Amino acid sequence: MKDILSYIQKRRKWLKYKMIKCFILLGPPGSGKGTQANKIIKKFNFLYLSTGDILRNAEKYDENIRNILKKGKLIPDSLIIKLITEYIKKNNIENGILFDGFPRTINQAKTLDLILSKNNAKISIIFIISLNLKETILRIKSRRVCSICGTNYSIEHNKSTDKCKICHGKLFQRNDDENEKVIINRFLIYEKQIKPILLYYKKSNFLVNINGLEKEEEIFKQITKNIIKRN
Ligand code: AMP
Repeated sequence: MKDILSYIQKRRKWLKYKMIKCFILLGPPGSGKGTQANKIIKKFNFLYLSTGDILRNAEKYDENIRNILKKGKLIPDSLIIKLITEYIKKNNIENGILFDGFPRTINQAKTLDLILSKNNAKISIIFIISLNLKETILRIKSRRVCSICGTNYSIEHNKSTDKCKICHGKLFQRNDDENEKVIINRFLIYEKQIKPILLYYKKSNFLVNINGLEKEEEIFKQITKNIIKRN
């Protein structure tokens, strides 16, 4: 009996040690989730899963997705969950996983719990990056994205930028970044959907608030410090 108990204890410890860590970035449009995600995955080698990126790829072949993205509305949960499940099945998550822009609804959050427990994974930290509407509009209007590597640029800060400094890809403006009304709509949808998400995770110790107005490097420092503490 003693042997069995000690075996169970050892196995529990081992499983906890082997548990795959999951980190999440949430924030309104322009809060720097994509920029920070790029730096995080370079440093920690996590699998990166951005629902926005997956959808922007899918919109090339799917008119329905294209129309929803153009209006700045949320894609139905059933489709998002299908895409996430497929992505996790296809990719190796052993080094940990970084979600960007997911979960955005309670239904997605509950499904994420299920997916993670099936994969011996668990949430470590959810970073909530805050930004006000005025700054969101300013940043999104001047955002340009590299058509090859996806790096984000601000034409405010890099006035002469028309090519990516990393891979020389052509820069373009995202469809959903063109129209101020759509930008405001996306911000308002974010404000509305984040409240129940925060309530859902309130009792956990996952939430870490980040001020999105801080400098990019300072935000990265704060994120890195927290990841190292809990990884
Ligand atoms: P993002 O790149 O995170 O700003 O997302 C761009 C757009 O993709 C959003 O405005 C939504 O239309 C859609 N989207 C991204 N993630 C989700 C999600 N988890 N649930 C529903 N729609 C999403």
